[in-house]
Amino acid sequence: MKKVLLALVDGLRPDAVQQSCPALCRMAQEGQADFGAQTTFPPVTLPCHLSLFHSVGPERHGVFTNDWTPMVRPVPGLVEVLHAAGRSTALFYEWEPLRDIARPGSATFARYQALPWEHPAAMEREREQAQAAADYIRREQPDFVFFYLGYTDNAGHQFGWMGREYQEAAANADGCIRQLWQEFAGEYAFIATADHGGHLRTHGQDCPEDMQIPLIAWGGAFPGREAAGGLFHSGHCPHRCPAAGGSLPQGVGGAQPAA
Ligand SMILES: [Zn+2]
Repeated sequence: MKKVLLALVDGLRPDAVQQSCPALCRMAQEGQADFGAQTTFPPVTLPCHLSLFHSVGPERHGVFTNDWTPMVRPVPGLVEVLHAAGRSTALFYEWEPLRDIARPGSATFARYQALPWEHPAAMEREREQAQAAADYIRREQPDFVFFYLGYTDNAGHQFGWMGREYQEAAANADGCIRQLWQEFAGEYAFIATADHGGHLRTHGQDCPEDMQIPLIAWGGAFPGREAAGGLFHSGHCPHRCPAAGGSLPQGVGGAQPAA
């Protein structure tokens, strides 16, 4: 069974993948992809990540903004489930509130480094993060890797979604994921997605630009041709993740291979 690397590019719209992300497009062509997957509402970073890692909506995990609060009736998340199954996990992220996607004591390794706001410096920092992830994965070969890149969302807020800087940020993120894909395709299945999209200089509304995300699955025994969006809504995701000994939920990797 392959290990799993989940790459998440904050604020990456499906049409930006098609315009600026050649590696993700190739991953989609060779694997399974849905460029019309729906994230959970509200399309905001922390609520969407908590849904992704806990397989429940905000009405259940209780986080509707980027301020985390502990669950009244806790649901075990993906990292806790993997820990209980004796699997190792490594989390790489650049936005500090993501520390709350896993409870203390469950992750094997985490690397956080803040992003600068400046456009070239932020992209350089993301390439450093990719290099740090590659070094760690090569050395430790964790069962599950979460590889988060945050600057594409920052570029959308600063310069506007789908503008030149945003597209450059998306292309840079694509290169970071390509680096890991090239080195670790033999041992890892890859999932690439986003937490939400965006429009103008914001996101958070119930509109297609904010709600649609890319969902790409490559190299694993993923069930296919089901309705899209299951990754964010399935009640089974953590327990059926390949790295946890199961298979991915129905709905991960839908129809629509990218043309
Ligand atoms: Zn944002």
